[in-house]
Amino acid sequence: MTKKAVPSQSLTGAQIRQSFLDFFAARGHAIVPSASLVPGNDPTLLFTNAGMVQFKDVFLGTDHRSYTRAVDSQKCMRVSGKHNDLDDVGRDNIHHTFFEMLGNWSFGDYYKQDAIGWAWELLTEVWGLSREHMWATCFQDEKGEIPRDDEAADIWRQQPGFDPSHLLFFGRHDNFWEMAETGPCGPDSEIHYDLGPDYCDRAGVPGHVCRVNGDCKRFVELWNLVFIQYNRTGPTSLTPLPKKHVDTGMGLDRVVAVMQAVDSNYKTDLFSPILNTIQRLAGQTDEQREANFTPYRVIADHARAAAFLIGDGVTPGNNGRNYVCRMVIRRAARFGGKLGFTQPFLAGVAEAVIDNYGAAYPELTKFRAAILQTLTQEEQRFQRTVDVGVANLNDLLDYLAGQGEKTVPGGEAFNLYATFGLPFEITRDIAEERGFSVDKPGFDRASKAHSEISRTEVGVIDNEAVAAYRQVLHDLQATGKLDQDGVEYDPYNDMELEEPVLALIKGGQRVASVKTGDKVEVVVARTCFYIEGGGQVADTGFIAHYADDQDEPLWEIEIRDVYRPAAGLSVHRGTVTLGAPREGDLAWVGVDVERRWDIMRNHTATHLLQAELRYVLGDHVRQAGSHVTPDRLRFDFTHQGMLTQEQLDHVTRLVNEAILSNFPVEVEHMAREKAVGGGAMALFGEKYGAVVRTIRIGEPEAFSFELCGGTHVLETADVGPFIITTEEAAAAGIRRIEAVTGRVALDLIQKRLGALDNVSTYLKAKPEEVDRKVLMFMDELQSAQKEIIHLRRELAQVELENLLAKVENIAGVPVLAGAVKNVDADTLREMTDWFRARVPSGVVVLGSVFENRPNFVAAVTEDLVKRGLDAGKIVKAVAKVVGGGGGGKPSLAQAGGKDPSRVSEALAQVKPIVASALAH
Ligand SMILES: [Zn+2]
Ligand SMILES: [Zn+2]
Repeated sequence: MTKKAVPSQSLTGAQIRQSFLDFFAARGHAIVPSASLVPGNDPTLLFTNAGMVQFKDVFLGTDHRSYTRAVDSQKCMRVSGKHNDLDDVGRDNIHHTFFEMLGNWSFGDYYKQDAIGWAWELLTEVWGLSREHMWATCFQDEKGEIPRDDEAADIWRQQPGFDPSHLLFFGRHDNFWEMAETGPCGPDSEIHYDLGPDYCDRAGVPGHVCRVNGDCKRFVELWNLVFIQYNRTGPTSLTPLPKKHVDTGMGLDRVVAVMQAVDSNYKTDLFSPILNTIQRLAGQTDEQREANFTPYRVIADHARAAAFLIGDGVTPGNNGRNYVCRMVIRRAARFGGKLGFTQPFLAGVAEAVIDNYGAAYPELTKFRAAILQTLTQEEQRFQRTVDVGVANLNDLLDYLAGQGEKTVPGGEAFNLYATFGLPFEITRDIAEERGFSVDKPGFDRASKAHSEISRTEVGVIDNEAVAAYRQVLHDLQATGKLDQDGVEYDPYNDMELEEPVLALIKGGQRVASVKTGDKVEVVVARTCFYIEGGGQVADTGFIAHYADDQDEPLWEIEIRDVYRPAAGLSVHRGTVTLGAPREGDLAWVGVDVERRWDIMRNHTATHLLQAELRYVLGDHVRQAGSHVTPDRLRFDFTHQGMLTQEQLDHVTRLVNEAILSNFPVEVEHMAREKAVGGGAMALFGEKYGAVVRTIRIGEPEAFSFELCGGTHVLETADVGPFIITTEEAAAAGIRRIEAVTGRVALDLIQKRLGALDNVSTYLKAKPEEVDRKVLMFMDELQSAQKEIIHLRRELAQVELENLLAKVENIAGVPVLAGAVKNVDADTLREMTDWFRARVPSGVVVLGSVFENRPNFVAAVTEDLVKRGLDAGKIVKAVAKVVGGGGGGKPSLAQAGGKDPSRVSEALAQVKPIVASALAH
């Protein structure tokens, strides 16, 4: 590591990111890859929004890593909340939906001395930022309850070249960090950079004091160093942690802007290639680009966010994360309209994102095709509906303006989304451009009423409930009933165990006992139930209490779900079906074993399927999602175009051969680097620690090797038969296969073989010959039908000849009204053609009952039309008798009816009608 100051402007954004990682790696830090934007095991989080997320369990003491020093550059998304509102994105220079957070971490290792010393060294000596412009803040409690952080302050004053007058103290809002109402917390120290008085945007504003945290743009916060030294157990009680930690965060976009000496994040080389691409695609001049800075920024920011989201497996959709993905694409597309784009263009912009970030985040390059295709398809989908949606919104705004209203009702905004796919954010953009606001709470209510929000659908974060569960965990730990690791989780060995009930939770409250019929959550010290994760559903089963020597339980709870509402706390959720369970009772905890075996078969089969798909289709096949239930497995994977029957047959064959080979399914824990280096497949959206669990199938060489936390059969033959049931498109560039195994596959085979046996009996053919026999019968049936049509026509011709004998003269006009047996309306019409060919001037009305419905066709030759005869009027009057109606041209008309028994009666109307028409 060089000690010489590098001229900062010469470093690119990518070099700054890399030099941060290198600097700390040289000081014993493990370089940890960025976690996915989709948080692994945290149901309370929509997206990874800070570097902290992947280390949260380490700070909570429920997870351990092989290293005590880490450095990373974490992908983050923030689309709402106190830190960022989408409103700000594009309107200023510093807010983004997606951003990178650089961080160095100490887990009970080094502390303030090194954290501050290294930060100062990196900023001033390695990156060459001016010491005179640096300011540091430390914590001083305005309530006087927590000691002032003099330790950090003293360390700052020792830094070479640091101006001691640039050290300031601030209170809890700025300089004290807490994870939640309880748990790890501590003072922090922020490093600010003074860009100079010219950058103050509030000079002259009354009351503005131009200083750090003075709310103007002169001082920018570069880096926040958090010193986790306390555990908060109540509103006023802090206890010192035995092991102290360091957690730091520095936004890459911002530090690059400072080092490249530009006044906007969008002018850094992280963004300029993206903005240049937009300009080139839009064919605009520099002046036009300057005049449209908001659309340019929104498009650049959102295209970057969308590329990273899709790269992490998030596709556009209607709920939670998928909605955010759809919304950023559609919002960017709409701003594209302001630049004159009329065709999808975001794929072109995303190419620039991938080129600029692909080296640091290889998933972008890997999924380039899926990213580009998803963007274009979503833009096309949006284009189809947006014009109508915007037109409707403008009508609505006109109407509201007429009423003197200034607010768009939330229900209306939701209808625009539900009907025309216009995201709330776009409705708000357009409404605001016309001076309206939109009722967001009303929109949320309408949206909630529209779809019951399920537990898996992330979007609502219930902090209160999470705090209540944390309290339960804390109480159990404080009384020694649970250790620091919380509830022991082991779904991999036994499927039953005995433990006393530690806690019963009803309606979010801890209770001493519950009664039959109550919905309850049960905590025991260990669980053998599998918690939903990695695509595998949670186990169900029973928790029961037995007296000695009794077969019948004294109480029983049917468990429908198991989940982890707070890190370290696994909870069984179910309904009391018998007795009155009490805290402290000894409980037998048992998984529904048959159901679990069905699940394990499907999970192992999913691994086999993935391996064989890669073998048959190629290495581009990657898991894009999976869902393993007792009934079936669903596997989504990256592949263009539908699979042929030959490919499906081949894959089915290979999976079944792997099952028959009875390979052992081997579980092994190893270092993540070793697993990935050995070719293990890691999944989208999963969080992996330093030590990972791997599943290896195949001997002597593994053909399936995956990182997986799921439960599996012991040997592949346990899977039983494997049958693919469907293959279809799941999303752009993603196929979906559903398959069954074990008992369900057996049922399917027996049902289908049974049906086949029946058919072969009916056809008097061997089962393996029925398909040819059926084809033969279908052929025969088709020619028989052709023959019937032909014969009917011949019969109709004969019938018409007979009917012609019944033509009567009414006032000198030949009129034929007759019933024909069993012909359809087409044949009736054809018969009237034959009549007109034979009778140059006349009227014909034919009726027939076909498939139990009466039909009539009337025809009048042209000369008589001129004399006022109308086939339409005639047929209408006739059909009225059979309870029907119809119409057509004066020369040819058709009608139907309901009552087949009155056809002759109806036809008897014809002559009087013609007579009366001719008399006028
Ligand atoms: Zn100022
Ligand atoms: Zn798996």
